[in-house]
Amino acid sequence: MTVQVHQCSANVIQELLEELYHAYSGLNEGRVADYIPELAKACPDDFGIVIATPGGRIYEVGATRKEFTIQSISKPFIYALALKLLSLEFIASKIDVEPSGDAFNAISLDPESGKPRNPMINAGAIAASAQICDAFPGNSEEQLLDYFEQLAGRRLSINFDVYRSEKETGHRNRAIGHLLRNFNIIESDPEPALDLYFRQCAISVTCRDLAVMATTLACQGRNPFTGGQAISPEITVRVLALMGTCGMYDFAGQWLHDVGIPAKSGVAGGVMAVIPGRLGIATYSPSLDSFGNSVRGVAVCRQLSRGVGLSLFNQYYQVDATIRRSYLGSQRTSRRWRSDRELRILDPHRDEVQIIHVQGVLDFGGIEQMAAELAKLSDKVRILILDLAHVTECPVESSGLLDRQLCSMEDKGVDILLSRAGRLPMVSMPDWRITERVEAYEHLDSALEAAEEMLLSLYDTEAPPATVTVLADPRYPGFLGQLPDEHRVVLAERMSLRLFESGDVVIRGGDPGDELFLVQSGSFDIALKISSGDGVHHSTRLATFGAGLCFGEIGFIAQNPRTADIVATEAGACWVLHRDDFDALSHSHPQVVISLLKALTCDMGTKLSQTSVQLTLMEHY
Ligand code: GLN
Repeated sequence: MTVQVHQCSANVIQELLEELYHAYSGLNEGRVADYIPELAKACPDDFGIVIATPGGRIYEVGATRKEFTIQSISKPFIYALALKLLSLEFIASKIDVEPSGDAFNAISLDPESGKPRNPMINAGAIAASAQICDAFPGNSEEQLLDYFEQLAGRRLSINFDVYRSEKETGHRNRAIGHLLRNFNIIESDPEPALDLYFRQCAISVTCRDLAVMATTLACQGRNPFTGGQAISPEITVRVLALMGTCGMYDFAGQWLHDVGIPAKSGVAGGVMAVIPGRLGIATYSPSLDSFGNSVRGVAVCRQLSRGVGLSLFNQYYQVDATIRRSYLGSQRTSRRWRSDRELRILDPHRDEVQIIHVQGVLDFGGIEQMAAELAKLSDKVRILILDLAHVTECPVESSGLLDRQLCSMEDKGVDILLSRAGRLPMVSMPDWRITERVEAYEHLDSALEAAEEMLLSLYDTEAPPATVTVLADPRYPGFLGQLPDEHRVVLAERMSLRLFESGDVVIRGGDPGDELFLVQSGSFDIALKISSGDGVHHSTRLATFGAGLCFGEIGFIAQNPRTADIVATEAGACWVLHRDDFDALSHSHPQVVISLLKALTCDMGTKLSQTSVQLTLMEHY
């Protein structure tokens, strides 16, 4: 799924960024890096802050579109690329994952194996680039930029002035490269690896790009602005862990303690911080402290973390928010209108159905709450409707638990109907065990209807109703059955039988309401058009009528135009009474008209009271 970039203007988050900007733009400590001559040209006053969200919103203040070189912020991404192109095991044999407690450019290698301490310091980053160079000697600059395009959502380029400047003066990095060669961490000429390293560090980004890249890491490696999976979730978790323990060099421990957010800084002045699942943060300000981290960047992140509680170790606990609603079947009926006979069968058994609406992320915590809710179900429940419309995600890691939970319900003999699960990845997962006892429905209403049908087929022990399809027959069981026989005979003479194919429009909204319909067979839906706020129209069913039921009575009696469409969803037939015949009848047979009106009044009264009970219950739950 791709989300649209939404530039956010005046709101509290934007105000917060502006306050931070003003609070720290006067902080003039630190120095611009000059050991790479080209970097010394940076303007120490430049200052930008950007926050990007998984929902695609971006907040920014200051110099957020100014380009600078990514430098060490490329390290987590190149390490991720090395893990992706080679294997976790192979890379683990070349680079450790321990914080070094040393400076970024320290020659921090294990004295015995020569392995760099971690991939966030230069030694580890050069080692990672070397593995890519060795395995893919032809790996071009284009491929490097293709990868960064996935991360940033736009084509980036290399700043060749900075690249050349570092290539000419980077003797210390060159020394590290050769030392790695000495320990066979790099197994061939270290120069191409160093060249890749200098190029990756010279990729030109804006603060905004870094925020998008941070959000990509926050979204398990999927860039929410493009929808592309730039890094696998498995690798993203590892990269974030290393950013947490090693991302800020020898300041990393203090950083995790004070700020508590995985982050990475670069000597050009960028800081990229990731709050997994929630936010990407980026700052740009070129003056660095003695650790090589941007002074203002550190200050902004520290203040954000404390001020609005962003530390990973300060996550808000959620108490049982997964179960949105849970109620018994008697609290909600389907929109298929039932005959008196069906109601007699259904009503005593409705509470054998339980409806549970779940919401949010079905991660471990969500599934624990669902499991607890299911454990409370009464033994009477034999059908479970699980409405998933408000579930936002079902992570692969926990979908196995959900599967097991549902299977154990099935083993207890409970049929499971999933409603509105279509958007969830789990339902389309190959190993998702939809057995014959788990069925998926596009609408909650169709799941409710299916549950009623299941109850009907279980409990319909009465003798099957006589299929009397002649209105005038005294045994006719439908809506007109309550009329005295002689009245029904009179009506039957004036009603004509009309046949419908499935899909036929019986009544169109706006048509004059001059006919009354009595269903002989088939199924007829009142389709209500709903226009949501964004101008999208869709249609939903308001009610369904089957044999014996009547529809169209409101427009007929009030002589109003039709308010909705009625469509045949199964081929069938209706007896139709036209207003002219009804008017003629009121002169010739006033008693018949009175008893018809009485029956219609009772019918409408029942519909109205059922509808208001449903509405009230919906508000209650
Ligand atoms: N290219 C820089 C170097 O190797 C990157 C260092 C950094 O950003 N901390 O010195």
